[in-house]
Amino acid sequence: MKNIYCSFFGHDLEVTKKVTYYVKEFMCQQCHEQFTTDESGNLTKLTPQYREINSVLEKIHNKKIRRKSLKAVS
Ligand SMILES: [Zn+2]
Repeated sequence: MKNIYCSFFGHDLEVTKKVTYYVKEFMCQQCHEQFTTDESGNLTKLTPQYREINSVLEKIHNKKIRRKSLKAVS
């Protein structure tokens, strides 16, 4: 979906999901296109493939956090 505002001013991105410290998912408030940060930190369109990658990253990330907090307790 093309939006005149976006092609003129650029996308008006809002973070919709924090996957890891570095990877986030975004949605444009104007055209509702979705984006994500790829492995090299660039903004790219959120394809179903990236969505899958992000959900795996999120699981790994959450596991790491849990392990860290367990260590802190013991
Ligand atoms: Zn847009």
